[in-house]
Amino acid sequence: MSQDSRGEADDPARTEGDLTKTGMSLRHDREWDYELDRIVDAVSERDAETVGLQFPEGLKRRGPRVADDLRSELPDDVSVMISGQPCYGACDLDTYLMRRTDVFVHFGHSPMKESDKIIYVPLFSNVDVFPIMERAVDEELAAADEDADVGLVTTAQHMNKFDEMRSWLEERGYTVHTRKGDERLTHEGQVLGCNYASADVDADQMLYVGGGKFHPLGLAMEHPDKNVVIADPVNNAVSVADTEKFMKQRYGAVHRAMDAEEWGVIFCTKIGQGRWDQAQEIVENNENAYLITMDEVTPDRLTNFGMDAYVNTGCPRITTDDGPQFKQPMLTPQEYRIAVGEEPLEDLAFDTFHGTW
Ligand code: SF4
Repeated sequence: MSQDSRGEADDPARTEGDLTKTGMSLRHDREWDYELDRIVDAVSERDAETVGLQFPEGLKRRGPRVADDLRSELPDDVSVMISGQPCYGACDLDTYLMRRTDVFVHFGHSPMKESDKIIYVPLFSNVDVFPIMERAVDEELAAADEDADVGLVTTAQHMNKFDEMRSWLEERGYTVHTRKGDERLTHEGQVLGCNYASADVDADQMLYVGGGKFHPLGLAMEHPDKNVVIADPVNNAVSVADTEKFMKQRYGAVHRAMDAEEWGVIFCTKIGQGRWDQAQEIVENNENAYLITMDEVTPDRLTNFGMDAYVNTGCPRITTDDGPQFKQPMLTPQEYRIAVGEEPLEDLAFDTFHGTW
């Protein structure tokens, strides 16, 4: 259980679409535009007979209402189905339902990969970000006259305000550095829990605007040389990302795995989480390593294998954030190489995920 739908809720268990603890959940019942017209048009253009709907965890309970609204607009012979699979990111499309429907609608995440079949309906936050940005500038960012450079990043939920955020900082004298990152990311300045390529900018300080610490902690781990200031409009809090506890946990997991004899190497079958080459490389070079394929990676599902340690090649945030919940050490691929002596401990770095599928 991770991952990118954790964004707004600073909760160790959920993702970019999870609004259950943000106070936005109910507000969006009325304000969220789920783009019914676009879906109805797509059904009619494609002469579709079946429509699949997929919602992240925090939006699932809207599913039946969205289905009601759609059914009232669509011809009677069009069936609408809702995915009941867990969903934490656009990496996590329900491929079973997608293959069996003519139009597939994924709500709440920005596209990781475009396809004719899929309609992505984003969810934008309606929280006002500027008061908390003001506080971040006053309390934590270097003053514009001392160090005018700042990198700006946010999550897909606040992308509708990104240009305004940039102008707002520029008006206060900052030179704002942004970039789009790689193909896993849709927007300029967007971060995912597993990808901070948009923060590869020429600035020593980064301003992250968004809810919770899930994304900025990953950002600070991936860019330990940068000062990552968090302006959190959801919890109305300003802070600086501190990775010490996180790093200690990772070192602890690597140390515990150093004596492992049997390794379970997890290959995640979710469409956007597969790193086949990395999983293969490990099992080819270690006769005590076993490739285990699975979709949801949870402690319960691993218990019966009884291995000494695991390597997760799927979502990196399951390893780093949920790792302590697993009975045996759960490592990233690079941490595995450290544990078996192929790389030095001091090279330990955050596991990021690039590319799509
Ligand atoms: S693989 Fe990346 S995008 Fe997918 S849930 Fe994990 S952190 Fe989010």
